Order: sequence, then C-alpha cells, then structure tokens
Amino acid sequence: MNWISEWALPKIKTLFGNPREVPDNLWHKCPACEQMVFHRDLERALHVCTNCGHHWRIGARQRLDYTFDPGWQRIELPKAPADPLRFRDQRRYGDRLKEAQTKIGQEDAVLVAHGTVEGRRAVCAAFEFAFMGGSMGAGVGEAIVSAARLAVLQEAPLVVFTASGGARMQEGAVSLMQMPRTVIATRMVKEAGLPFIVVLTDPTTGGVTASFAMLGDIQIAEPGALIGFAGARVIEQTVREKLPEGFQRAEYLLEHGILDMVVKRGEMRATLARLIGLLRTPELLPEGPAATAPAPAALPAPEAPVPAAAAPPA
Ligand SMILES: [Zn+2]
Repeated sequence: MNWISEWALPKIKTLFGNPREVPDNLWHKCPACEQMVFHRDLERALHVCTNCGHHWRIGARQRLDYTFDPGWQRIELPKAPADPLRFRDQRRYGDRLKEAQTKIGQEDAVLVAHGTVEGRRAVCAAFEFAFMGGSMGAGVGEAIVSAARLAVLQEAPLVVFTASGGARMQEGAVSLMQMPRTVIATRMVKEAGLPFIVVLTDPTTGGVTASFAMLGDIQIAEPGALIGFAGARVIEQTVREKLPEGFQRAEYLLEHGILDMVVKRGEMRATLARLIGLLRTPELLPEGPAATAPAPAALPAPEAPVPAAAAPPA
C-alpha cells in the first residue's frame, strides 16, 4: 500500500506546491545592531540598516545599479590566464575559480560598465567581494586596465568601487604584478586629464590598498568601511602597542587626512555626479574660473551620449 507515498503524495505536492518553498529570508539580521530588518525595507534603503545605519556589503552588480542611471552597459573583459602557476592547496585553484564563477555568475572579481550618473557619463569598475574575497589576480588587473582604457576612449571619468582582501595568493607573483599594472592604468586616465575617483567600501585591504586604490584624485569611502593594508592584529603584534579605537575605519582615516570624504550610500550617486560635474565642467559653475575658460559652447559636450565610434570593443 505504499502507492500513497510513492505516487499520490508527490502528485498532491506538485498540485498544491511545496510549502517548503516559501522563502525563509524575508528578514535579515543586522550584523551591527542585531535588529531584524524586513527585506523590502532593506532593499529600499540600498542595504543600509534602517535602525543603525550600518552599511551592508553589496555585490558588484547591485553597486552598479545603485550608481548608474538605468540603461548602463557591462563590457566584456579580455580573458586572463586562468591558473598560471597550476597552484594547488587542499584543492586546485582552477577548481576554486570555476566554483566561484558558477556561484557568482561572473568571470572574475571585478565588473566594468559604462553609462550615466545623473546624466553625466562615467566608466565604473566594481569589485565583488563574494568572488574569492575580491582578491586581485590577473583577471582583476585586466578589468582595471580595460576600465581605464575605456574611460580614456570615451573621455569619461573613471570611478572604481573597491572591496578586496588583497592580492590573490594562488597566483603568486602574477598577482603582485597587478599592483604596478593597475597603477599605470589609472595613471593613463590622469594623463588624459580625466578624473579618477576611488570609492573604498568595506573591506579594502592588502595589495589593492597598496596600489591604485589609494591614488584617486578624490578618495571617498562608505561609512564604517574597513580600510587598511595589514590586519589590525598583525600590526598590534608587530608594534606591540594597543591600536586606537576605530583604527582602519573610514571615519578614522578621514580624520587623519587619508580620505577626502565619507559618503553614505544613499548620497553616493548624487555626490559622484556633483564631483564629476565639478571636475569636468568647472566653467559652468557660477563662481568657477569662467573668465579664463573658453565658452562652454566651444567645448565638446561632456554629457553627450556615447557616439557609436567610441563604444567599447565587444
Ligand atoms: Zn543595524
């Protein structure tokens, strides 16, 4: 008489739907204040705690969505050598990489896109911390170089949102080579007279901090972001001193002159648009260097849509 369990029950389940499929993640616990926040409220608040203002870590795609106006486009990135050293610890690096690619749905830890920020053109690169800790290997280096090239090609500012544990140790020296490589890439943007803005998000450490991420024309961070090179415990053990309260946090770094501003996520898009406006078209400001600058009409319109010729290589 087991036809009931073998045939009838599955049939009933498909007819009425599986009650276990009800999503169980409607409420999220804030890691800072431990308050439960309803998922819709959290989304509406751009993943900032509605109770204490803690900034949740968000993915690269979400970051680009929050920054750009609708209609932004991701660019395809050149393929980097997948596992140059054929590295293996408990598992093959190649397998770890494949697993991350399947889980996150992207090739490596950085996405590059172009579009407009409140009507102003920009190229953005965003780190995905969930992809092997946002670590920088050849793939990430390639992404930053591509973003810099695209910015120069489109005569648009480059904005990079960082979130990284540092160099990708499975790529050894190849990952370290990405430090000078990304520095040269972002220098290219500066030499073209274009703004390079860095937004440091939680956490930005190691080789990324030690290279291009500290070289922005303007250094912004999200509130409470951990930003540093070595971990606090390592430093404490080395200098044998207790570190001050809030060490390596965005607010502390702002106070000590490492950052230019700490901007809440809800104000990031408007702040970036304002900065790009100030840096790209200062002659349009009421009290800008209007007397010496050429008339705005004589300049190429920086907010004009991307001409087809300047579109990125597919
Ligand atoms: Zn909270």
